[in-house]
Amino acid sequence: MTEYHCEFCNKKLLNDKIRSRRMHNKGAKHLLMKKAYYMEMFEQEKVRLEMSTILRDIAGAAEEERIEGFRLPPGIAPEAVHIPEAPAGFKLPPNFDFGDRSNFPADISSAIKKHIA
Ligand SMILES: [Zn+2]
Repeated sequence: MTEYHCEFCNKKLLNDKIRSRRMHNKGAKHLLMKKAYYMEMFEQEKVRLEMSTILRDIAGAAEEERIEGFRLPPGIAPEAVHIPEAPAGFKLPPNFDFGDRSNFPADISSAIKKHIA
C-alpha cells in the first residue's frame, strides 16, 4: 500500500491515489498550512534577499525589454562559439530583400562580391 506524506500538513495519506491526493491538496486545512509554510519561509532573511534579487532582475529585464524591444533571454554562450566578422567593406543595401531567393546564390563568394562597396 502506497502512502503519501504531505510536507505542509505533516500528515500521511494512506492508500495514496492521485484523486485522493488532489482532494487533499484542495482542502482548506492543506491550503492554510501551505500558506503558513511559505509565509514562514519568506520571513527568513536569506530567502527574502534572494526573492528581492529575483524580483529586481525580472523588473530590470522587463524594463530593458521595454526600452530596447525584443532580446534573447540572458544566457552564457559556450566559448567555442565564434561569430565571424563581416568581410571588410561588406554592407547590405538598406532595403535588402531577405525573402528574395536570388539574393542568396549557392556560391557564397559571388554573394559577398555582389555586396562589397
Ligand atoms: Zn497537506
